[in-house]
Amino acid sequence: MNRKVAILGATGAVGQRFIQLLQGHPWFQIEVLAASERSAGKKYRDACNWVMESDLPREIAEMTVADTTVEAVEKTGDVDIVFSSLPGDLAGPVETEFAALYPVFSKASAHRMENDVPLIIPEVNAEHAALVPIQRKRRGWKGFITTDPNCSTIQMAMTLKPLMDFGLRQVVVTTMQALSGAGYPGVPSLDIIDNVVPFISKEEEKMEGEALKILGAFDGSTVQNADFVISASCNRVHVKDGHLESVFAKLDAEPSPEEVEEALRNFRGEPQQLKLPSAPENPIVVRKEPNRPQPRFDRDAGKGMSVVVGRIRRDPIMTVKYMCLGHNTIRGGAGAGILSAELMVAKGLA
Ligand code: NAP
Repeated sequence: MNRKVAILGATGAVGQRFIQLLQGHPWFQIEVLAASERSAGKKYRDACNWVMESDLPREIAEMTVADTTVEAVEKTGDVDIVFSSLPGDLAGPVETEFAALYPVFSKASAHRMENDVPLIIPEVNAEHAALVPIQRKRRGWKGFITTDPNCSTIQMAMTLKPLMDFGLRQVVVTTMQALSGAGYPGVPSLDIIDNVVPFISKEEEKMEGEALKILGAFDGSTVQNADFVISASCNRVHVKDGHLESVFAKLDAEPSPEEVEEALRNFRGEPQQLKLPSAPENPIVVRKEPNRPQPRFDRDAGKGMSVVVGRIRRDPIMTVKYMCLGHNTIRGGAGAGILSAELMVAKGLA
């Protein structure tokens, strides 16, 4: 199972999280770190302001950062898999070049909505991996590209999946999103201290569009979008890590809050069946306290890979309402990319 990996965008918020989570990984070994020309040629410790809670591993600190081109990466080491945490605008053309040769696991939005590109949450829609051979054939590529959803969409979609059995019709969601979601160094302190910013560029459109593809059905050649509507309202709040979301769902059936709780608590997917190394035992953790989940206390549940749900209650306008929380740079970021790669390796696709 051993695979050598390159990380593009290795000095950023998600890139650092990739490095942290890949320490001691049983299948993946970091071979190349790449970033912008500002960083290329420097030792990683000099190129990056390490903001993870754990120490920068010594062997990583001493690695020389490569430029973000296929040529530079290949000159630095032999790789089997590419994790990309590049900014959205850059990710489009650069990831395409890499994907012609390597399996690319992308954190950016550039390719997410392309018809032959899987938009994967392994617990939710592992069957969409079947787009990979279709994409390879259509594009004539040796490699492929697969994407993870936006960090606020992932956790919402994980909680909506079990609700689909009750006939999901409408969703209204309001987010309270952490600062690290804006990358490093992110939102200027004077914009966010003592404040909430009720706008995150393109975030609402991503939540409203991506969730329908993720929860859609693969028909043997493409994904048919799920048949419900979402309205999202996104806010940046003064929290370091962990997006909290308030979700209202209209369901055909009229399940009680207890039935919804049971469906969420019992939710499992392929990563749990396959015992993938990064799969949390419980993809959704339900808290019963009236004041949970909270970012500071709950974002690290399941090593940051579980979504924490609480305050499940009946809604007088919709059917049910609840709060959910996910760690944006782990379940919503690098952890999602690593779990997707584990799934593709387990399926023999990477
Ligand atoms: P970030 O902290 O701003 O990091 C950006 C990375 O890209 C850095 O390593 C930077 O290298 C590199 N980069 C910038 N310009 C480049 C160029 N011209 N050529 C090559 N490399 C370049 O951003 P981030 O938060 O990690 O986000 C990365 C991607 O993941 C984005 O697409 C974002 O939307 C997505 N994402 C983020 C989160 C999150 O919670 N933050 C979650 C899910 C998805 P230098 O240090 O050399 O500039």
